[in-house]
Amino acid sequence: MMTLVVASLVERGIAGVSRSSKKAFDAGADLVEVRLDHLRRIDDDDRLVHDARAVIDGPAIATLRSEREGGKSRSSGGARRATLREVVDAGYEYIDLESARDGALLEELQSRSGLPKTISSFHYTRPAAKHHVKARIQRACSAADIAKVAVPCADAAQAVVLAELALELRKERRAFAIIGIGVQGQLTRACSSGMGSMLVYACVDGKEAAPGQLDVRTQSRLLEKDSVILGLIGHPVAHSVSRPMQEAALKSVGLNGIYLPLDIPPKRMTRTTVNTLFDIGFDGLNVTVPNKRLASRMCDLRRPHAVSTDSVNTLLRRKGKLVGENSDTVGFEKLLSSEKVAVDNASALVIGAGGAARAACWMLRDGGADVTVSARRIKPASEVAGMCGGKAVPYSTLETMAEEYDIVVNATPIGTKGTDQGRKSLPKGVLANARVLVDLVYNPPETPSMRAVRKRGRPAHGGLEMLVRQGEEAFIIWTGLKPDVGSMRRAARRAVGA
Ligand code: NAP
Repeated sequence: MMTLVVASLVERGIAGVSRSSKKAFDAGADLVEVRLDHLRRIDDDDRLVHDARAVIDGPAIATLRSEREGGKSRSSGGARRATLREVVDAGYEYIDLESARDGALLEELQSRSGLPKTISSFHYTRPAAKHHVKARIQRACSAADIAKVAVPCADAAQAVVLAELALELRKERRAFAIIGIGVQGQLTRACSSGMGSMLVYACVDGKEAAPGQLDVRTQSRLLEKDSVILGLIGHPVAHSVSRPMQEAALKSVGLNGIYLPLDIPPKRMTRTTVNTLFDIGFDGLNVTVPNKRLASRMCDLRRPHAVSTDSVNTLLRRKGKLVGENSDTVGFEKLLSSEKVAVDNASALVIGAGGAARAACWMLRDGGADVTVSARRIKPASEVAGMCGGKAVPYSTLETMAEEYDIVVNATPIGTKGTDQGRKSLPKGVLANARVLVDLVYNPPETPSMRAVRKRGRPAHGGLEMLVRQGEEAFIIWTGLKPDVGSMRRAARRAVGA
């Protein structure tokens, strides 16, 4: 079953409908949807239904979205029915009817053959349970040619549930369109074809009919066979700058594609969730806080750096198997070499005991450094230290620490913009005794800790180059192609305002 790209036209006048429909078809839309409810005076003048149809040079859906379902139409009862009857006569290929209020007309149209085809739609105003949405779609399928449901998604896990439902309905050979509303619902648009949705709605000139719509050109290109769908699983993900950076990478090698930050709360970070994402068309995933250890545990195969660090930030599926790698290691190594930080025989203090600390410790050990790890909780610090043959010291000792270290690595979020850690610095003893500070935080480009170390006349390097280089490595793992690092770096710098 082919997925058709529908351009939603939210215009106030007929001239706008004419202009936007031309743009939509030029950009690759298969159909346009005239949102009749957006037309000025539609509730008083039914002739507009015909006028709008007359200026569209291609197949069209007519939709009179009611206020109750997020539209602008206030008409109800006989007045609503009269406008919809005009649609039947005006030569539209499809008519969108709301299952909650247009039941009688749906029944009448279903019993006759020919055009318009019917879309029975329902728009939830808040996230809904899977069984509820499923029952609604099954009912709508028996009442119309296509069942359409739109559900707001507060996070990407809710969109994944919609994707799971779509895969079930696809097996039942149902004709449906399932849409997750909002930025976190975007995966249901990017992967509409993989989900088996018959229609996917897109916008013209950025005028969204619903939050999260992609523009028509992007949406059409995503349906092409060789397009690449990538994403980042984490919680939270709003701070991430990987989307512009990875989309610059895609562009640099001439690939169509998209990179979606997916907010997946830890409880929903399951093998089923990851499998569903690959089932509906994702080609590769990054993993970030707090899911890297979990990701490592769920892989069928792990590449060497994932094994060494027991932490995975890059996932792909090969021959049905989930494969994991850690590209933070390579990113960290390249950051050190680009800044000419000597590692062999250096004394290194790594602060933090999460995924980033694991990558840093492993590469420091590999380069011949003597590694000490410090974290608020001594148990994970000892675990990481054990992994790289180093020792752990309590975090409480860092404030008054007197020992100098050749390299200090901040692998905590301390100093990250937009968080309550934003204005914080590392403990005083650390700032006074770091010969070189490597701060893995990349936003802002200069953290308070970096500023303090530089004030003492010592070098301090931020995490942006590591971000770019781990991204480059992940991209190569997913696509087998080498992206232009310069484009990725420029996109990342722009995104953090550097
Ligand atoms: P993670 O797995 O959540 O680990 C964070 C570590 O920092 C934990 O040990 C945590 O200790 C500690 N921590 C958190 N807040 C702290 C505080 N206020 N004081 C002291 N310790 C604190 O995260 P991660 O993946 O390792 O990432 C850590 C940082 O590195 C993040 O800021 C991330 O953005 C950055 N990073 C950068 C790159 C890059 O490419 N530049 C790549 C990966 C990560 P508790 O367990 O006690 O909370």
